[in-house]
Amino acid sequence: MTLLFAPPVTTVRMAGSDRTFPVRRVYCVGRNYVDHIREMKEGDERDDPFFFQKPPDAVVGDGAPVPYPPRTEDLQFEGELVVALGAAGSDVPVERALDLVLGYAAGIDLTRRDRQRACRERRVSWEAGKAFDASAPCGPITAKTDAGDVADASLRLSVNGETRQRTRTSLMIWSVAEIIAQLSADYRLMPGDLIYTGTPAGVGAVVPGDEIRVEIDGLAPLSIVVRSL
Ligand code: MN
Repeated sequence: MTLLFAPPVTTVRMAGSDRTFPVRRVYCVGRNYVDHIREMKEGDERDDPFFFQKPPDAVVGDGAPVPYPPRTEDLQFEGELVVALGAAGSDVPVERALDLVLGYAAGIDLTRRDRQRACRERRVSWEAGKAFDASAPCGPITAKTDAGDVADASLRLSVNGETRQRTRTSLMIWSVAEIIAQLSADYRLMPGDLIYTGTPAGVGAVVPGDEIRVEIDGLAPLSIVVRSL
């Protein structure tokens, strides 16, 4: 049997290393900070957060040009802590969930907000709003042994040097361990999986030429520039 063609494997750089992390799946958590739920005026802030996916080849690395996506007039940033898994697990208890973690990165859940809202109004899947090309910028992965305390780290997102989002990861509704435990009840998690853990308040639009930077204490920063399509 011969493959007709070999699909490229998307990889993310490991910080301070020449090794790369091959991406298998990209999971994202929706509604994981109370202040963002309030600003979006959606849902009940006591609701459980929920999961969605982006295609693995939507991941782009630090420094990559991100083309402004088609068919939107409201491309928005969501700065997020990203968890990179290095081990497999199903039905993982919270107490053992962090054993699956290889490292952490700064990421952006890019969103075509106008498309997301239109999908919501039509009561159809969000996919057009979330799972487009280059929608998952991810910084270099810092091995967990080298990362700071990501459970209570400062997260800052700036556009052209101006701070737009600022939070502490301790304000997440679901902790990293709880997210992994819950997700592993629905899916068998595998090495190569990335989990975007949700965004705090302050999300907003960008235009071509804007530089978006995400900094999380103890992790390598992520910086991308939005280009004209
Ligand atoms: Mn998000």
